[in-house]
Amino acid sequence: MSQTSRAAVSAIAYVGLGANLGDARAAVSSAIQAMDGLPATRLAARSSLYASAPVGATGPDYVNAVVALSTQLPPQELLEQLQAMELAAGRERPHANAPRTLDLDILLYGDLRINTRSLSVPHPRMKDRAFVLVPLAQIAPHLVTPSQLQSVAEQRVTRL
Ligand code: ADP
Ligand code: MG
Repeated sequence: MSQTSRAAVSAIAYVGLGANLGDARAAVSSAIQAMDGLPATRLAARSSLYASAPVGATGPDYVNAVVALSTQLPPQELLEQLQAMELAAGRERPHANAPRTLDLDILLYGDLRINTRSLSVPHPRMKDRAFVLVPLAQIAPHLVTPSQLQSVAEQRVTRL
């Protein structure tokens, strides 16, 4: 038995990225590359970069993307790694929906359903957000239905 808490097999986790402060394109692009270097994790797929209007807030457009990670990190450890990346990118949390240099959300982790204080998976708001569903459909069309895409069709999301 290994002393680490790594799962014996890899799971596919989908992570949504967003940034709307500073050089948001660079922040998202470098975060995608950095995820390939996380422990026991490799980048399996990445969407294009997209621009979207902020939801529930004002401010500059977001740059968004979705990636698929093949990882042996358990969900909570993956969350902690992603939060460390957010901090390293200079993220502050002055209030809900505040502009951010980098936001990394676990959208899906295999077919697990998780509801702890720190982690809800599948991400509870992903079905409401075109900036998640559109890039997710690009890399994992089997995970997004046409009717889900239709229900967010009025939200502006532009491929960069
Ligand atoms: P949001 O992404 O909702 O705008 P934050 O990025 O500030 O807000 O995250 C707030 C908290 O959400 C985090 O501290 C984290 O513990 C929690 N959280 C719950 N589920 C998830 C998830 N699936 N992915 C990322 N964070 C999550
Ligand atoms: Mg977040």
